[in-house]
Amino acid sequence: MWYHNKPIKFECQSGCSKCCLTEKGEYGSVTYHHTDVQRLDAHDRKELIWVGRANMTKPDYWIQPTSEGSQCMFLVDVPFGGGPKQCGIHKVKPKPCAAYPFWPALMESEERWNKEAEFCPGIGQGDVVPIDTIEAKLKSIKDYPNLERC
Ligand code: SF4
Ligand code: SF4
Repeated sequence: MWYHNKPIKFECQSGCSKCCLTEKGEYGSVTYHHTDVQRLDAHDRKELIWVGRANMTKPDYWIQPTSEGSQCMFLVDVPFGGGPKQCGIHKVKPKPCAAYPFWPALMESEERWNKEAEFCPGIGQGDVVPIDTIEAKLKSIKDYPNLERC
């Protein structure tokens, strides 16, 4: 793969949240697998499971509604005000969120990766990401539908 021979830098930028917002009416990275929901259940977030079921579009993949609001419902204000919004389920966020931007479709070519860098300001920032880390993130979502940010 092209990225084996090229240093890939990435660091999520504080206060960004772009991939948690809608673009063209779709959410950037929120796709649930039943295992994501099980992790939410294990962390006592049963109210989220109810929402997930209400919006189930396929047996195994639960996808956020696209017709309401302009951001993922888990993007919350920081308690006591101040500061940018942040993920309210960070430790148990769906795997596609945790893996982004290392999605197969976004890494299929250097050209596609560079195009994603126009959207995600974290690409090209920070330290070089080890190949093992990139491969682990790609592997973590291998059972998901072909994720392509909208
Ligand atoms: S778009 Fe990139 S920098 Fe912004 S929150 Fe998402 S991963 Fe982080
Ligand atoms: S679950 Fe968290 S990281 Fe994923 S889109 Fe929602 S707020 Fe963003």
